[in-house]
Amino acid sequence: MVRVRFAPSPTGYLHVGGLRTALYNWLLARREGGTFLLRIEDTDRTRLVEGAVEALLEALKWAGVTPDEGAVVGGPLGPYVQSERLEIYREMAARLVESGHAYHCFCTPERLAEMREQQVARGESAMYDRHCRNLDPAERERRLTAGEPHVIRMKIPDGRTLTVEDQIRGPVSFDSSQVDDQVLMKSDGFPTYHLAAVVDDHLMEITHVIRGEEWLSSTPKHLLLYEYFGWQPPVFAHVPLILNASGKKLSKRDGDVSVEAYREKGYLPEGLLNFLALLGWSPGDEREFFTPQELTGVFSLERVRKSGAVFDFDKLLHINGLHMRAQSTSRLVELVMPFFDRVAWPRPEPEYLARVIEVMGERANLLTDYVEPIPYFYSDPAEYDPATVKKRWKAASPELMEAWVARLETLEVFGHEALDEALRTLAESRGVGAGQLIHPTRLALSGVGSGPGLFEMMEVLGREVCLRRLRTALERLPRP
Ligand code: GLU
Repeated sequence: MVRVRFAPSPTGYLHVGGLRTALYNWLLARREGGTFLLRIEDTDRTRLVEGAVEALLEALKWAGVTPDEGAVVGGPLGPYVQSERLEIYREMAARLVESGHAYHCFCTPERLAEMREQQVARGESAMYDRHCRNLDPAERERRLTAGEPHVIRMKIPDGRTLTVEDQIRGPVSFDSSQVDDQVLMKSDGFPTYHLAAVVDDHLMEITHVIRGEEWLSSTPKHLLLYEYFGWQPPVFAHVPLILNASGKKLSKRDGDVSVEAYREKGYLPEGLLNFLALLGWSPGDEREFFTPQELTGVFSLERVRKSGAVFDFDKLLHINGLHMRAQSTSRLVELVMPFFDRVAWPRPEPEYLARVIEVMGERANLLTDYVEPIPYFYSDPAEYDPATVKKRWKAASPELMEAWVARLETLEVFGHEALDEALRTLAESRGVGAGQLIHPTRLALSGVGSGPGLFEMMEVLGREVCLRRLRTALERLPRP
């Protein structure tokens, strides 16, 4: 029975890399009929951010990558929030001290800082010098009884090769002499990530630990902890880093990194998930469109790459566009509607929005493409783009527009085909090219020089609106 977990620390928003990790875990659970668990790792009290748990849950919910068990949803092996499990970690740490695999360390922050400084000055890597490892038992007892602040460190053996059998990378070996005597319990009574994660992965019966590559170097410590406790370690799989175009770790400077930002920008959850799935994993062929359902059928850890994955913003937009076109108009209407709450004009009628969506066709790659870039579908243009005016509003335009207004008043059917035909007939009778009517009309109706097909747009706007805007333009645009 596959049991996987996503174990974020509530230190802010959900990062796209975090969502990808969650997704890979979720996909494996879905494929295997297993359980996807959410654990909140909040033991680093200095990094907690208020509201971060709620934001994480909201982002996961939006993405549809929802836990079967864990924080908030509950389950038989909780609590799933680490700060509610302190007693368990305390007991486990005591067990390791008892068995001689861990020890109390009373070194003060000042002593540690000095030690590090000297090591660095000698050109050595900074590592705990094991000062407290062999404290005289009587002295240790005396200091503990006196209530001296202390931590608990794990004993790392010398001269052992620790090998992580990584599902993605194959065997990765570490020399134990390079591994620090890791702090397991801090002086504030909270465990470190290392102890808490191992204890919880064991007690929560996790079978596969799928997490970011940045944790690979911690895994030898985790393997030793499993050994010290006498527990069977899970399968490990470390997914590649997400890189920017220049091959460095993706950061805020490169663009948006929070899931929330993509939601706000009008990406579909399916589009973002599809893109993130392909970020480090490949289906083995050229296919690039996958629904979440389809992904569960084809995803496997074996096809996750070892090397870093470049976050290609253009590809994300392209894939989102594919998903936009795969949606029914009615679903798009539902999804787009809330975006009107942040613009100056009111929500349109659903039927009207549906027609706008259809007219926009393949021009839209984002939900917001139906809102901010096309205000003219929802309100009269407040101004006219000066460059377009200069280019399209010619000496002959006012007179031609007046004739066009007169024609539109009496046109029987205000549909795109009839409009198209009427415009061309008028242009011909005046001995001008159709463009002489098309461009000024678009300018008058939208205030800008480009957009969807003019006649389709006119049909959606309707006769009344078109006439009003044409008349307004005739009043407001100076005769060149
Ligand atoms: N809390 C860790 C993080 O924020 C989880 C690492 C792991 O999955 O073991 O990434």
